[in-house]
Amino acid sequence: MNNKAAVYTGRFAPSPSGDLHFGSLLAALVSYCEARSNQGLWRLRIEDVDSTRTVIGADERIFKTLQAFALHWDGDVIYQTSEQQQEHYQQALQKLQELNLTYQCRCTRKQLAGHDTYPGHCRLLPGNHSAPHSIRVIVDDTDICFDDGFQGPQKQNPAKQCGDFNIKRKDGLFSYQLAVVVDDANSGITHVVRGIDILESTARQIFLQQKLGLPTPQYAHFPIITNQHGRKLSKQNHATAVNREDPVTVTRLALQLLNQSLPDKKPMTQQQLIQWAVDHWQPDRFKGMKQIVYGATP
Ligand code: GLU
Ligand code: ZN
Repeated sequence: MNNKAAVYTGRFAPSPSGDLHFGSLLAALVSYCEARSNQGLWRLRIEDVDSTRTVIGADERIFKTLQAFALHWDGDVIYQTSEQQQEHYQQALQKLQELNLTYQCRCTRKQLAGHDTYPGHCRLLPGNHSAPHSIRVIVDDTDICFDDGFQGPQKQNPAKQCGDFNIKRKDGLFSYQLAVVVDDANSGITHVVRGIDILESTARQIFLQQKLGLPTPQYAHFPIITNQHGRKLSKQNHATAVNREDPVTVTRLALQLLNQSLPDKKPMTQQQLIQWAVDHWQPDRFKGMKQIVYGATP
């Protein structure tokens, strides 16, 4: 047995589909403060597995924003589209295939319309390699329980949430669910800290970890920022890029919304402010909160 406890290893995993907006900056800030206040590492992964959504140059702008906010990451940046990562996904897919947990799905969008969970049409059909198909994994109809670091005990059942889900898409791209599980394991991620909008995906990820024999990290989902209408700030929602020119003001606002204590208004560099935030980090102050309403995008 290995008695050496793994070093806390957290990560930030933005999709390069645009600039960081206030919501994604919050994900960076919360996961950073969690990692650093636990003397941990903080890794950066560009989640470009869905390359159809990649905006050229967005990765570089994300790096610039993180640097301007003094959120410095450890090690090399990982890209999901790199040859090495793709090979890892292929190996994971193969393992699931060897376990007889996959099948080809040829359902069209139209056939699936109106179904919240996949009805299992293709489960019993023989695979036909020539027709375009996605690959689904067969889920168990059992509850998956985990203790969320911010949201407390959770119970989710993938069979009821979504049914057999895609791990490879019809267009040949690996799915987010498979990629994220393989990546977190390969990077030795011990703690996943992300927005509550992804809470629902967690059981699917734990399910894949169990089938693939990978460790399950600790999960913690923090509240998302919504507008007055309860809608999440997102790129689709016209949330604008965070202002890289004034990181101190944006960071103070983020800390305030997270109920964190703030330093006096004395002048501070961004580096000092981030260090202050880490030193005074109190996640208990937003534990259990599911959303934070904020009127205007800073
Ligand atoms: N790439 C996802 C996003 O930008 C984050 C996924 C995750 O943290 O697991 O929303
Ligand atoms: Zn199908």
